[in-house]
Amino acid sequence: MASRTRKPAAVSTKRSAKALRRAQNQFPGGVNSPVRAFGNVGGTPRFIARARGAYLTDIDHNMLVDYVGSWGPMILGHADPRVVKALREAAGRGTSYGAPTEAESELARIIQSFFPSLEMMRFTSSGTEAAMGALRAARGFTGRDKIIKFEGCYHGHADYLLVKAGSGALTFGVPDSAGIPAAMAGLTLTARYNDAAHVEGLLKANAGEVAAVIVEPVAGNMGCVPPVPGFLESLRTLSRKHGALLVFDEVMTGFRVSAGGAQELYGIRPDLTCLGKIVGGGMPLGVYGGRREIMEKIAPLGPVYQAGTLSGNPMAVAAGIATLKQLRPSLYKRIDNYGERLEHGYRELLARHRLTAAFNRVGSMFTLFLGVGKVNSFETAARNDRDQFRRYFHRMLELGIYLPPSPFEAAFVSAAHGSREYQRTIRAADDALGLLNGA
Ligand code: PLP
Repeated sequence: MASRTRKPAAVSTKRSAKALRRAQNQFPGGVNSPVRAFGNVGGTPRFIARARGAYLTDIDHNMLVDYVGSWGPMILGHADPRVVKALREAAGRGTSYGAPTEAESELARIIQSFFPSLEMMRFTSSGTEAAMGALRAARGFTGRDKIIKFEGCYHGHADYLLVKAGSGALTFGVPDSAGIPAAMAGLTLTARYNDAAHVEGLLKANAGEVAAVIVEPVAGNMGCVPPVPGFLESLRTLSRKHGALLVFDEVMTGFRVSAGGAQELYGIRPDLTCLGKIVGGGMPLGVYGGRREIMEKIAPLGPVYQAGTLSGNPMAVAAGIATLKQLRPSLYKRIDNYGERLEHGYRELLARHRLTAAFNRVGSMFTLFLGVGKVNSFETAARNDRDQFRRYFHRMLELGIYLPPSPFEAAFVSAAHGSREYQRTIRAADDALGLLNGA
């Protein structure tokens, strides 16, 4: 029998509801990025007033244990004093110059210490731009137009990357959003994640035409789905064999699943890598880079043009340096241990409440898929029970636990999460999961 946590007396969302009504007049859906609107779960998104450590405080003064972490960047927790200090100091020196700084090279050196495969790199202002830059570099370098991406993987909102699988095994992609010319989507081939044979088929059917295979080496945008053993190794072998570049989109996994990302964790060296999120310490910063001979194709050295007014912005670079300097083995031990305890705690609760679910986790990144026993692909992720998720999500939120408002997202632990947050989360999960089987 579940030990029910009583509904906290003071859960009010009046101010958030009012703020949403005003914002809906100003922004599509009242938000500046779609998933924030709670479209998958319904209800009122919380408007945030401030954040510190493992907690968000909304404008109704509710304090929430945060597992979204700004969708990944906040590995140190919110308002980390070292990052805040670095930002204050940087702001005092001016917020943007549009000219090179020594700090950019300092950040590049730190990145290279974690990611030796980035022999040369370019800074951008977002993960989307990093993926666009990497693929333009791949196309410029190989002289080929097509790319292979995976169903359920997200690489930002560039036209040719918002494509999901076509129906046939070897068909061209169809756009996943209005406003994308079919001709652009047609250059994107979509493969099944964790299915190397499918990739091989696409490479053979498009021999000499594929510039790059781009992959989230641990998928995070269909919920957390780790690669099956041998999958990434096969991508390395196959892309090399067919003259295509292997691009790891580590915008989410970089500095997350280990300090050196998935490429360190699984021991695979891609040709190009995209970084974002943690690398900017919560400020807008993306990075793409990799083999020197490829990156030497980028302007002004080479013919592949890519630029940005705020690229390498001094405040973003300062936040990035301050964050990456804290990424010691002890930090990963702490957040991975927390993830492991959470997984064990959830597994016990799921058994106790007799619920079918998959708890996927790599280190401090995890997703609970309700209503489906095993998730290793987009197809299996899509079988999750959305109604169960919606009820679970809202009960957790009522009890002060802020999870991603979609069953297709990964949640993140920060170094500021400790025993208190763990206990509170497990107590809430006991209650919320208990609701699902009517206990
Ligand atoms: N690539 C991956 C794997 C991501 O998870 C994201 C964003 O969630 C992006 C690229 C796009 O990054 P941004 O939102 O900074 O443009």
